Amino acid sequence: MESESLLTPDERVLPTLNEDGSRRWLSPRPSVGKFWHGRRVVAYLLIVIFSAIPWIRINGRPAMFLDIVHREFTLFGKVFLPTDTLLLGLLMMIFFISIFLVTALFGRVWCGWMCPQTVYMEFLYRPIEWFFEGKPGKRKPKNFRGLRKVLRFVVYFIVSLHLSQTFVSYFVSADHLSHWILGSPFDHMTAFTVVMVSTGAMMFDFGFFREQTCCVVCPYARMQSVLLDRDSLIVTYDPSRGEPRGRKKRASKEPGGDVSLNVLELGDCIDCTMCVQTCPTGIDIRDGLQLECIGCAQCIDACNVVMDKIDRPRGLIRYSSQRTIEDGKHQFWRPRVVIYPLILLVVIAGFVTVLVNKESTDVLLMRDKGLPFNTLSSGEIANQLRLRVTNRTDHDDVYTLSIVGPDGVRIEERYSTLEVKAGKEESIKFPIFALPRLFPDASVMIFVRVTNSDGSYTKDLKPFKMHGPYWKEDPDE
Ligand code: SF4
Ligand code: SF4
Repeated sequence: MESESLLTPDERVLPTLNEDGSRRWLSPRPSVGKFWHGRRVVAYLLIVIFSAIPWIRINGRPAMFLDIVHREFTLFGKVFLPTDTLLLGLLMMIFFISIFLVTALFGRVWCGWMCPQTVYMEFLYRPIEWFFEGKPGKRKPKNFRGLRKVLRFVVYFIVSLHLSQTFVSYFVSADHLSHWILGSPFDHMTAFTVVMVSTGAMMFDFGFFREQTCCVVCPYARMQSVLLDRDSLIVTYDPSRGEPRGRKKRASKEPGGDVSLNVLELGDCIDCTMCVQTCPTGIDIRDGLQLECIGCAQCIDACNVVMDKIDRPRGLIRYSSQRTIEDGKHQFWRPRVVIYPLILLVVIAGFVTVLVNKESTDVLLMRDKGLPFNTLSSGEIANQLRLRVTNRTDHDDVYTLSIVGPDGVRIEERYSTLEVKAGKEESIKFPIFALPRLFPDASVMIFVRVTNSDGSYTKDLKPFKMHGPYWKEDPDE
């Protein structure tokens, strides 16, 4: 008995769980209003953009191609190679600081308006469900219910397959994907497996897991408490207007007619629960800001319809800030609204500077593994080096390595050229030879130059230290 009281919570701990811990299945009622119309436009625009990007080409390259196998990212026609760690790092910083800033200003606008989970769930998978099974409150008759469910999941499968193929095309390129789709799966088993696994994951997510992704899995929701402040724009209920809530008795509309005391005492909230019934995460916004609120504004649309019906001003639930709702004040300028943009400006300036000053070729000369030097039978000293060249141009090129100095250092001609394809990286191992008299200090600095085929790129590399045995002049010679 005691263990039962310990295990049974006083109230529902998650909006998507019943008190006994079983799943509380949600069927949010659609609420059509200005925010729903706006979100629908944004959602379909994003779906079109997501589907189109792999097919768009800029400067002959895909607009976005994340070639993980060859460690090469193409963004808006610009190729980023493994040597661009700094640029990619700065790009990631720009992305995250922008999220911090947008959240500080506009709350969870990303979640409610742009996140793929919301976009696909509310504007693709949910309408498909409604098409086959009817909207909540207007469910279709029970005949053929099983068949309708099967058909719904068949359409889910087709949609999920298309989405996962589009997703995979970001990593393998749209051209490859179309070629593979027309061929046998056995010719490209890895890509086929990835597509099928991600199709299954989407079916699971949008067909079964749904709002749990936002409520339980998404890390962004958990960061809200630090990213939001009292002046961030959020979807919020105005208790000063709505409370005390309750159903009103109808007041006489006759001039001088009876006005029920009940009407005068109660706030604008008639406790119709339409805001709760429409919420895709099943919460009651009247309980205040909650982690599960994705800022989708469906409750605003639902409540506005109610307010219109009872002839009260719209906006009992509205976009506002906690400070405005509680104190009637709004403070736009606060430290994070100044600091985030300043950091963002610095990082963007750094990114642009690095990008603009990036050379067409990256060259790196380094020592290869093994002994620091060998002494050949001819007496010459050999060091084993490695040259790595990254060709960032859009044409293949041949690079020539030459010794600028000192005299007595040479490389073999067969190792002095390296062909590198456009946007690729190549490396070559080669020995470099020097006369023993160059090593009175057991080392000598050598000067190396790299030039491309038409001479448009010439680079004198940092002096390189060759090692050798101490050399002492023989006084008898
Ligand atoms: S929809 Fe509006 S009136 Fe109805 S319960 Fe919600 S806040 Fe109250
Ligand atoms: S409370 Fe309102 S804004 Fe928040 S998730 Fe529910 S319907 Fe959307």
